Amino acid sequence: MVDTDSSSDLFQRARAVTPGGVNSPVRAFRAVGGTPRFIRSAQGAWLTDVDGNDYVDLICSWGPMLLGHAHPEVQAAVADAVGRGTSYGAPTEPEVELAEEMVARTPIDSVRFVSSGTEATMSAIRLARGFTGRDVVVKFAGCYHGHVDALLAEAGSGVATLAIPGTPGVPESATGLTLVLPYHDRAAVTAAFAEHGDRIACLVTEAAPGNMGVVPPEPGFNEFLARTCAEHGALFVSDEVMTGFRASKHGQWGLDGALEGWRPDLMTFGKVMGGGFPAAAFGGRADVMAHLAPEGPVYQAGTLSGNPIATTAGLVTLRLADDAVYDHLTKAGDVVKQAATEALSEAGVPHVVQSTGTMFSVFFRGAPVRDFRDASDQDTAAYAAFFHAMLDAGVYLPPSAYEGWFLSSAHDDRAIQTVVDALPGAARAAA
Ligand code: PLP
Repeated sequence: MVDTDSSSDLFQRARAVTPGGVNSPVRAFRAVGGTPRFIRSAQGAWLTDVDGNDYVDLICSWGPMLLGHAHPEVQAAVADAVGRGTSYGAPTEPEVELAEEMVARTPIDSVRFVSSGTEATMSAIRLARGFTGRDVVVKFAGCYHGHVDALLAEAGSGVATLAIPGTPGVPESATGLTLVLPYHDRAAVTAAFAEHGDRIACLVTEAAPGNMGVVPPEPGFNEFLARTCAEHGALFVSDEVMTGFRASKHGQWGLDGALEGWRPDLMTFGKVMGGGFPAAAFGGRADVMAHLAPEGPVYQAGTLSGNPIATTAGLVTLRLADDAVYDHLTKAGDVVKQAATEALSEAGVPHVVQSTGTMFSVFFRGAPVRDFRDASDQDTAAYAAFFHAMLDAGVYLPPSAYEGWFLSSAHDDRAIQTVVDALPGAARAAA
C-alpha cells in the first residue's frame, strides 16, 4: 500500500483554507476519489510527492512541460533571468524574441502576451467583437476555452440553441450571446450562420478538442469553419492553448494541412509557450490585431503580461522543441498507446484510443468519440479503478476520464517501461 499520510495531512489543512483544498477543481480527485497527491518536486518525467513516492507523470502540468520537469537549460535561463529582476512593467527583449519565434512557427502576423489561456480567449473574443462590431460568439459543446463567462455555456441537444450558463455566477446575459453547437456538426454550423450570420463576431473552437479527451477534427473540418466564417464576415478563432507547440511543432494548424492554405483570423496559445510559467497569448491577422490598444480602440492590458521570467522560459522551451522532440513524443506515445490497447483488450475493457499528432487519450467506451455526447458516454467507474491501480503502480494519470495523457521529451525508456508494466494490472482492475 502506498503511504499517503503527508498528502492526507496537507489535504486536510488545505481544505480548511481553500475551497475543496485545491486551486483548480480537477486536482481534487473528485472524479476518481481518494487523496490528491501533494507534489514536492519533479525531475524529467517523474514527480515526487510529499510522502516520497515517485510517479511517472502523464499529466505534465496539463500540457506545458513538453521538455519534462526541471529541464537544465530552461532552469539555467530562468535562474539567470531571475537574477536580473522579476517584473518591470516595461518592454523587454525576451518578449520580442518569443513573439518572433511564435510568428515564425504559426500563421499569425503579430501576438499579444497575457498570463493565462482564459485571458487569451477572453481577449480574442473581445477583439473579434470590437473588430466586427458584432456580438454573437459560436462555440462547440465540450470545447473548453478557460473560465471565460461567455464561454462557460452548456450545449443544446443537437440543435443550435442560444445557451444557458453552465455554472451559477454566470448570468444569462453573459452567455445569451453565445451559440453552442455540437462538435463536427457541419449542418448545425451552416444553419447557425444562415440564421444569425450577420450578428456573429466569431466562431471559437479548440483546434483539436482536448478537453473532452482528444477528438481529432475530421479532415477539412477546421478549414470548413474558417471558410464559413469568412463567407459571413465573422472571424475564425482557433484555440491552440493546448495543441499549440504540443500536437506538433506547428500545433494543430500544422496537422490540418493548412501550412500554405487558409489560416485562422485569430489564434490563442498558452501552456507550452510558457515553459511551465504563467504565460499565454493571442495573435492573428495584422489588420485585426491592429485594433488592439494602443494601436486601436479595443482595450486590453496586464500588469504581468509578457513577464520576463515567463517569456524567457517559453522562449528557451520553444527553441529546444525541435523535430527530435516531436519524433520522440510520437514514438513514446505509440508505445504507450499500443500497450494500453493490448492491456485493455486482454482484460476485456471497452476502450478507444484517439490521437491528434503527439496528443492522445484513452476513452473508456467501445466506440469512437466525435463529439461531447460521445465523450460523456464513458465508463467513468472503470476509469477510476484503472486510475488508482496506475497510481499505486507509480504512474500519475489525469484524475478524470475526459483528459489527454501528456508525455514529454524526458519520458525515456525507464519511464515508458514503468507505464507499460503498470497497464495490465490496471486494466484488470478496471474490468
Ligand atoms: N483553452 C484551452 C484549449 C485549454 O485547454 C485551456 C486550459 O486547459 C484554456 C483555454 C484555459 O487556459 P488557462 O487554464 O491557462 O486559463
